[in-house]
Amino acid sequence: MSTSAARPVDVVVVGAGFAGLYMLHRLRGLGLSAVVLERAGDVGGTWWWNRYPGARCDVESMQYSYSFDPALQQDWHWSERFAGQPEILAYAGHVADRFDLRRDIRFETSVTAARFDAGRGRWLVETDAGAWEARFCVMATGCLSTAKLPEIPGIESFAGRRFHTGHWPHHPVTFAGRRVGVIGTGSSAIQAIPVIAAEAARVTVFQRTPNFSIPSRNKPMDGDYEGWWKRDYGAHRRRARMMRTGILYEINDKGAMEVDPAEREAIYRRRWEAGGTSFMGAFADLITSQDSNDTAAEFVRGRIREIVADPATAEALAPKDHPIGTKRICVDTDYFATYNRPNVTLVNLRAHPLAGITEAGVRTGAGEVTCDDLVFATGFDAMTGALAAIDIAGRDGLLLAEAWRDGPRTHLGLMSAGFPNMFFITGPGSPSVLSNMMVSIEQHVDWIAGALGAMAARQAGVIEPTAAAQEEWVRHGMEVANRTLYPRAASWYMGANVPGKPRVFLPYIGGVGVYREICDKVAAEGYPGFSLSRAA
Ligand code: FAD
Ligand code: NAP
Repeated sequence: MSTSAARPVDVVVVGAGFAGLYMLHRLRGLGLSAVVLERAGDVGGTWWWNRYPGARCDVESMQYSYSFDPALQQDWHWSERFAGQPEILAYAGHVADRFDLRRDIRFETSVTAARFDAGRGRWLVETDAGAWEARFCVMATGCLSTAKLPEIPGIESFAGRRFHTGHWPHHPVTFAGRRVGVIGTGSSAIQAIPVIAAEAARVTVFQRTPNFSIPSRNKPMDGDYEGWWKRDYGAHRRRARMMRTGILYEINDKGAMEVDPAEREAIYRRRWEAGGTSFMGAFADLITSQDSNDTAAEFVRGRIREIVADPATAEALAPKDHPIGTKRICVDTDYFATYNRPNVTLVNLRAHPLAGITEAGVRTGAGEVTCDDLVFATGFDAMTGALAAIDIAGRDGLLLAEAWRDGPRTHLGLMSAGFPNMFFITGPGSPSVLSNMMVSIEQHVDWIAGALGAMAARQAGVIEPTAAAQEEWVRHGMEVANRTLYPRAASWYMGANVPGKPRVFLPYIGGVGVYREICDKVAAEGYPGFSLSRAA
């Protein structure tokens, strides 16, 4: 594509999920021209793609929503404590309409390449529907937007219907009367299995690694609770932004071993009954002390053994290979109880390894299970997958794939040295997936908008992190991660689910509030660690 054919714009934003939508709104406020390029047919990102049965948020809806517009958060009413996918998608659509965003979004447009022309200080962004030329490029491409099928021999030979939770069809899918195989037991599967099992003739779950899951206790929105939030939304949001996870909930400041076993049990039980991810706030040291973590893990294993009637199934469902919380903790509705249904069977792939997929179903060490449908709840090439799929070349033709060969290298998760004027929203090296993503998205968008405003004031044309600042941030990120139990789990946080992906801890675990203070300080001090210049 020649530069002359490219349409000029101040900023190209890639992705029209919650990050891209808010970025576009802020860019307009700065008086910049912008286009959003989006592969999907409409806005919503994650919530446009993940339409599997049972899909819903695991951060309470009163918090899993934008805070940037006081009228929006007052006007919108969530019908449940944890909203389902259709309602979250409707919310994204409402925001797009309310702020008239769609006129600057090109749907069904996939970005294939982005090349920086240092001489002209422009990014040339190529798509399957023409090219764009921009001073700035914002990658709002999502951390969990590249669905991943597993490397299982014979996967293409299956003759029945095949689904991936992250790429679910837009037409209604019924499982009535069908024999369904589900591969995977992460958050997506844990939400989908109970709903599929309620409809299907038979469900066989193929589990490689069991996961910890806490009941959501989802329910219709309580008017008093909604009122509590809305009466002082601004103040509650400000507090949430300074929490470790960006979620406002009570965190016990005691360590688990500081209380006696009876009190510990009572605290866990209260959190279990309350439901949701706040279980991990039961004690301050659950992600840093193995001994403390063991007590929480054993409590949850105890509940699984209580709920699941068949002892062998309960034991197979009880996670023992990773500390609780070091893989994103799951939140469910009736997940473990679903295994008491006569039409649901668990196949433990650790005991009976998966041999392959055949035309008729799934073959394991225990024999072949015939299936009409296969549901792959096998996750994503997380955090870097969507960026790696774009051929990105920065200064002097430096390829992002090359620069990140041993793992992503960013300064603050926001930019990477050698890639001037390219920003990442919730990129690797920022709290992103370890947080309420809405909080992290808004924080990144606001920081980027602030940086663009500062550049305009200084008449700077180019911003780029220094190599020294980036190396220090990467080192600091690893140091902080190594103070926790997280690196002990073979998780997608570590890139462990993608063969050949470097094993580095991808998000920043220093905490959402701490991270915000670091970013704010950088902005307040005139962007140390970044070079701002007039020209490239
Ligand atoms: P996305 O919503 O992923 O949007 C990125 C968009 O970029 C996508 O629409 C994609 O099509 C587009 N794109 C990517 N590459 C290209 C390209 N090359 N060209 C064109 N377009 C491209 N987080 C929470 O905090 N709480 C939750 O409860 C929660 N629940 C989740 C449930 C599921 C099932 C999943 C998968 C994730 C969940 N998350 C949750 C994380 C969720 O991804 C974020 O909360 C948030 O929706 C991310 O928004 P985003 O705009 O950054 O990215
Ligand atoms: P995931 O957590 O990565 O789970 C993938 C599952 O597939 C794992 O159980 C994995 O087993 C299994 N798997 C992968 N390859 C396999 C193979 N070859 N053979 C057998 N099993 C295989 O993916 P996800 O469930 O889609 O969740 C991803 C993230 O999205 C979550 O962690 C969360 O951040 C977000 N999410 C949130 C919600 C929510 O509650 N709001 C819902 C869905 C997703 P191993 O563990 O053994 O690899």
